[in-house]
Amino acid sequence: KLSLRLEKVASYVPQAAVVADIGSDHAYLPAWLILNGVVKQAVAGEVVKGPFESANQLVQQLGLESQITVRLANGLEAIEPTDHVSAITIAGMGGSLISEILDRGFEKGILTGKERLILQPNIGERKLRLWLQAHQYQLVAEELIEEDGKRYEILVAEKATETTNYSPQELLFGPFLLKEKSQLLKDKWAQELVQKELILSRLSEDNPNHQDKINELKESISWIK
Ligand code: SAM
Repeated sequence: KLSLRLEKVASYVPQAAVVADIGSDHAYLPAWLILNGVVKQAVAGEVVKGPFESANQLVQQLGLESQITVRLANGLEAIEPTDHVSAITIAGMGGSLISEILDRGFEKGILTGKERLILQPNIGERKLRLWLQAHQYQLVAEELIEEDGKRYEILVAEKATETTNYSPQELLFGPFLLKEKSQLLKDKWAQELVQKELILSRLSEDNPNHQDKINELKESISWIK
């Protein structure tokens, strides 16, 4: 059984896709996708030896060696052209790490633009939306969920023919989440508001080094309100 968080990520993997799960840890997500008949082929990528071995172990235990290829590699370098990957999942990391992984994959030509990206940043969602916008990806769905008292956003994106220009507010809150305005979203940003006001109260208007941060905080506080 998957966590609710990973179950939601899995729900955006298209039927019969070839999926690459980057930072797969135990390979729970690709294993679940295969066992539940969503996909037939998957790649599990891991950069750290311990989790890579755990992934291998699970795949062997389940006898899924012919369907899940586990590779020890940095980011999207786990993907080979002959895999014909059509969906990439990257979950449980910060938005800036996910952006860096996508960036390197883009620079190396591994990201072809044909793959659906299913991303679950723990923090730094705005940074990830900025990356997607800058690389002509369009958000096709977003979801905010809560599990064990923690909130998680899931961003689903596909390459677009034109650049989508999101407003600064959409980049911060998420275009779909902003439209939906769920109670969970309100709770999330009520909490962020308290934190931002606290940080603002600790910065000094007299310190020139604080000016940019103060302006940025004041702007986002007014948007949240
Ligand atoms: N994706 C799983 C999930 O959402 O439950 C595991 C999340 S775990 C917190 C993050 C995993 O990403 C770790 O196993 C870590 O080793 C791996 N990781 C971090 N940076 C990576 C990179 N550049 N390439 C591949 N894996 C990476």
